[in-house]
Amino acid sequence: KPLLSIKNLVKVYGKETRALNGITLDFFPGEFIVIIGPSGAGKSTFIRSINRLVDPTKGEIIFDGQHMEKLSGRKLRKERSKIGMIFQHYNLVGRTNVIKNVLHGQLSNIPLYKSLLGLYHHEDKKEAVELLKKVGLEDQIYKRADELSGGQMQRVGICRAILQRPKLLLADEPIASLDPLSANIVMQQLHTISQEKKLTCIVNLHQVDYAKKYATRIIEIKKGLVVFDGAPSQLTDSI
Ligand code: ADP
Ligand code: ADP
Repeated sequence: KPLLSIKNLVKVYGKETRALNGITLDFFPGEFIVIIGPSGAGKSTFIRSINRLVDPTKGEIIFDGQHMEKLSGRKLRKERSKIGMIFQHYNLVGRTNVIKNVLHGQLSNIPLYKSLLGLYHHEDKKEAVELLKKVGLEDQIYKRADELSGGQMQRVGICRAILQRPKLLLADEPIASLDPLSANIVMQQLHTISQEKKLTCIVNLHQVDYAKKYATRIIEIKKGLVVFDGAPSQLTDSI
């Protein structure tokens, strides 16, 4: 049974920018899916439609039994809290230290006044430290996020998304701003942690080599349409 079903998804920006032209896909638990395609193909729009950072024009998004496209307010926030998100530009709070950034993802799950007072759950703090160790940041826990390198920031981003204990992890061009060495570390850690936690992960990349290295399934999007969907071994060199 799929964790996420997308049916005939269409997104039109303004009057005529058809970013998604009718996408139908099922995503199953434990898959590590990489979406590839040229710039402007609709990859980012697709991934952002899943948790409704982008509102689709038409179509269905059935996540964990809920029609995401019909939800709003509290119900939407509840479903969103089951979806972790990793961004190209990390979206960390620069002046805040690393561990608080990791705990930040949990803010939606604890009362606001507690988070303002910094009263995080003890288990959350413990797990945040464990996650930071796992990605090799145990010595940076109390550093300000804006003092880290790009690769380190993205590893904090991974920890923040994982601490949310999501069912689904979305990563929108997580390595596009990184040098090759940092990019490889980030991809490797994202892959390892997702497998360990048995998470379903959907990652946008424009680098086909990383897709082949880590994906269990590759989806290629061009002009808002799926033009390939299969195992990495089935991907021909023409791409
Ligand atoms: P990709 O992630 O594959 O580069 P995008 O989803 O970012 O593709 O973009 C798909 C198309 O939609 C492009 O033509 C892009 O210019 C357009 N687009 C993306 N976001 C917006 C927006 N907020 N407003 C208008 N057009 C947009
Ligand atoms: P990022 O991926 O780092 O968030 P992008 O460069 O993809 O940043 O896009 C930045 C913002 O501009 C996004 O909100 C995106 O939806 C919007 N955007 C992208 N392409 C267009 C476009 N052609 N017209 C209007 N807005 C766009």
